[in-house]
Amino acid sequence: MLTIFLFRDDLRLEDNPGFTKAARSGPVLPLYVLDDAAMTDDLDDPHRLGGAARWWLHHSLASLDGALRERGSRLTVMRGDPFVIVTDLVRSTNAAAVHLSRGYSPWDVELERRLNETLAADGKILRRFGGRLLFEPESVSTKSGDPFKVFTPFWRACQTLDDPSGHTAPPDDVAAPDSSPDGVAIDTLGLLPHDPDWSTGIAAAWQPGEAGARIRLENFLDDAADDYGKGRDVPSIAGTSRLSPHLRWGEISPRTIWQAVRQRTPQPRGAEAYLRELGWRDFCHHLLFHFPTMPVSPMREPFDAIDWCNDAQDIRRWQRGRTGYPIVDAGMRELWRTGWMHNRVRMAAASFLVKHLLTDWRIGAAWFMDTLVDADPANNSAGWQWVTGCGTDAAPYFRVFNPTLQGEKFDADGAYVRHWLPTLGDVETKYIHKPWEAPADAQPDYPPPIVDHKTARQRALDRFGVVKSAS
Ligand code: FAD
Repeated sequence: MLTIFLFRDDLRLEDNPGFTKAARSGPVLPLYVLDDAAMTDDLDDPHRLGGAARWWLHHSLASLDGALRERGSRLTVMRGDPFVIVTDLVRSTNAAAVHLSRGYSPWDVELERRLNETLAADGKILRRFGGRLLFEPESVSTKSGDPFKVFTPFWRACQTLDDPSGHTAPPDDVAAPDSSPDGVAIDTLGLLPHDPDWSTGIAAAWQPGEAGARIRLENFLDDAADDYGKGRDVPSIAGTSRLSPHLRWGEISPRTIWQAVRQRTPQPRGAEAYLRELGWRDFCHHLLFHFPTMPVSPMREPFDAIDWCNDAQDIRRWQRGRTGYPIVDAGMRELWRTGWMHNRVRMAAASFLVKHLLTDWRIGAAWFMDTLVDADPANNSAGWQWVTGCGTDAAPYFRVFNPTLQGEKFDADGAYVRHWLPTLGDVETKYIHKPWEAPADAQPDYPPPIVDHKTARQRALDRFGVVKSAS
């Protein structure tokens, strides 16, 4: 009997238990549906796929299709409403079951609910499998059965559960159905940019697909995992795994990563710190699952009362990396060029937009969603809410990062900002994060700060004062 496997954010064959089970039980129709709702022009819609994410998806689908063809199958790609397409296909192919890896966003959950209801009414089965997280949301709760809102106790509770190492071997062969719907060519989905094609820097930085994910993992374990505890705070070096886009698209499972780290002998010195970050990823997804409005509403309501400035010119300067603060500008340039930004710099750049420029965090989150290759509704909205102070486990609202000190702390020799802002290449190290203080005859061709730190900090504290009671 035929099974339809609906790929979503799990574009891999390795450790994809629902796919393997389908392939072992008989012919399988591997399907990807590009959801029309994700192709909306509305930048504020958290379901929207951003430009960089679309680029990644195109290449990831091509890679998955290649892997399936090596096993005697192929990926059927369609565009439209996934619910309509899947239910129509079940009827036209007379499939007995649909398998998928469960998702945690409101639209994933809703699709699963509707499919389950409709298929059951037709005597068919929807089977939902884990694999996108280390721990399922239902398996981690407080003593009173509520979801955790703070990371440390959440992670402590996770560590009392079974070791999440997991590996389902990919099937050697995938039996194709007698006839498959034609679908559409990946090239016709309109995922790649043109006029202009801004993807050159992104293409040079990344290799989407399972093979690219494996290479990143091996490189990280060989070169950076030992020193991760310290190296992860240095944006000028490859001190982190850069697996985030591969995890976002499910080209590698967090359980595979967990297992690879645990099986390394000797254990990398940075193993615990690294696995904890995978824990943060789980935590953000659990939060989104339990609080589906997280991408659009502050988790602490009083933050709705903040009177944002939302100055269009300031926002533009931030997006273009022209704020006059090198660590912020270098980060925004790295993001624009490669579709990725170092975590430390994400925090500094996001904080600057929200606190120094008094911009609604949702505006920054939308820009990140449009430009990050790892744009992820769970991690991104949790990250922005953390920086703003309105998340459940967030930095206090009165913490206003000083962008100069952040630069001096995490990029002491200025290597990171010199790389992304070549105009600062010759600036003396003592001025590299405050070039406006360099002697007049050594001033670089670089804009002055668009706001004075002290003034902006006080303004932020005044405006954020309305939420005092929430903290
Ligand atoms: P590593 O340090 O190697 O960590 C391994 C993995 O753990 C990452 O790939 C990621 O999946 C997970 N992880 C690490 N840090 C975090 C974190 N703070 N929260 C949740 N998961 C984490 N991450 C995204 O994947 N997508 C986003 O859209 C996103 N937006 C962010 C926005 C802001 C404002 C902030 C402050 C952080 C955001 N992050 C986001 C989290 C973090 O910056 C990235 O996951 C990390 O920089 C990715 O690099 P890496 O793979 O080298 O991380």
